[in-house]
Amino acid sequence: MSLSHEIMKNICGYSRAKYSTWFYYRPDHILFDAGEGVSLALRNMIYGIDHIFISHNHGDHIGGLPGLIKSRASSMGDITKPLSIYYPEKDSQILQFKEYLDVSIPKLPFVLTWKGLRPGDQISLNANRFVEAFASDHMGTLSLGYKIIEKRKRLKSEYKGLPQQELIACIKDLGREAIHEEYHKNLLVYSGDTMPLDVSIVQNAEVLLHDATFVLGSDREENTHATVEEACELAIKAQVACLALFHFSSRYSHQQVKDKIYEIITANNVEIPIHYIYPHFYPSDFKQIQIEN
Ligand SMILES: [Zn+2]
Ligand SMILES: [Zn+2]
Repeated sequence: MSLSHEIMKNICGYSRAKYSTWFYYRPDHILFDAGEGVSLALRNMIYGIDHIFISHNHGDHIGGLPGLIKSRASSMGDITKPLSIYYPEKDSQILQFKEYLDVSIPKLPFVLTWKGLRPGDQISLNANRFVEAFASDHMGTLSLGYKIIEKRKRLKSEYKGLPQQELIACIKDLGREAIHEEYHKNLLVYSGDTMPLDVSIVQNAEVLLHDATFVLGSDREENTHATVEEACELAIKAQVACLALFHFSSRYSHQQVKDKIYEIITANNVEIPIHYIYPHFYPSDFKQIQIEN
């Protein structure tokens, strides 16, 4: 199984513009945004979350935070496990939201840490992985996207292509460290809400999760969200291994979304796998309990 396939397999989430967006990436215990319904959907899996990265202060991205924090304090699970929430630095609306939570849940059984981030800030996940924040293009104030980056080692260019024997001799003379260099691999890029990101941000990512609010560019009135076409163009230019589209406007039917993606794939001979999330709504219908005589 390819790495991008493996990453996609480990992402679950929900996204509909103006209502709710959140994505949980299990291997690194990360929740990207916390739209309404997140704790209801994840249930006991909320105890798996170590870090919540908030992209911006819109209600569809933070509306699920109170429920999630309250559930973590009172449901069946490790209620003492610490939780960190990261958000765009100095965002006054998120800070007001934090104040409300501080007052309404004054005594949490776990350590809850809030940390404002600027573009370029990095949060370590383990020895080999970290999350880096970058500026997205969504509103007048700072909004962020996030990348999970893996530190990897490769042969320095001057040693590439050397015969095996010579390479072994170099390792003996200089040591393994000296002939290798560290590089950073973009595993997963989460755009948050945004106009199309810059290619340099997403270059060679394994998985790009990108805003694709508009199926039709003519429906866009303000430059705050990307179109399906723009997200696909970006994925092709940046040579990502896999693209996952989210945040569709509810003005479009499922069929319109599918048709648009199909049209782009066939018109451009796109070989990148393109995923999309078009959630169907609950609630479901009541069911009657049948009493047997
Ligand atoms: Zn949104
Ligand atoms: Zn937004």
